[in-house]
Amino acid sequence: MPNICVYCGSSSGNDPAFVAAATDLGSTIADHGYGLVYGGASIGLMGTVADSVLASAGTVTGVLPKSLADKEIAHPGLSELIITISMHERKTRMADLSDAFIALPGGLGTFEELFEIWTWAQLGLHHKPIAVLNVNGYFDKLIEFLEDSAAKGFIKAAHQKMLLVSDSSDELIGKITSFAPPLVDKLP
Ligand code: AMP
Repeated sequence: MPNICVYCGSSSGNDPAFVAAATDLGSTIADHGYGLVYGGASIGLMGTVADSVLASAGTVTGVLPKSLADKEIAHPGLSELIITISMHERKTRMADLSDAFIALPGGLGTFEELFEIWTWAQLGLHHKPIAVLNVNGYFDKLIEFLEDSAAKGFIKAAHQKMLLVSDSSDELIGKITSFAPPLVDKLP
């Protein structure tokens, strides 16, 4: 079964729309026949998206570093929980297990994960789709900043534009299904 990796907040934010979107994304992932790969926690939007996939009879694989197993409270009901030695091993396992990546609203950890998988794509280390679910315009300023960075010559337009964006889970999964990776190298 193909897997979608979801990066998202270990908090829920302060707009109920974030929890609603995480719930909708979880059921949409399961309904489209994908499994979920995520950080393994039971807290914040991470717990919400996992609960929603499980409630829709989907498969969920959590990947949690040992050091965070207590703080982020490992989800007790997952199809599989993988405990890693380090954060780096966690992110590598999540990437290897997944066929596509979606970021929901989140904080620094979510940004770090999104940017890492995106930089791996621009280096050609993988050719998998990367997307953000733009709930209530959460990512608008980030997208605007990245467009400006591309306009100023630091990001190639093809790499900036490869990020799939939608405020609808259903539309985002459609974009993932029809994604064609850019054939542009970062380095000459
Ligand atoms: P946040 O978006 O900050 O709530 O974090 C969401 C997820 O990212 C959590 O599972 C964190 O453990 C993880 N995370 C936090 N910091 C980092 C980091 N430096 N590198 C990778 N993942 C992180």
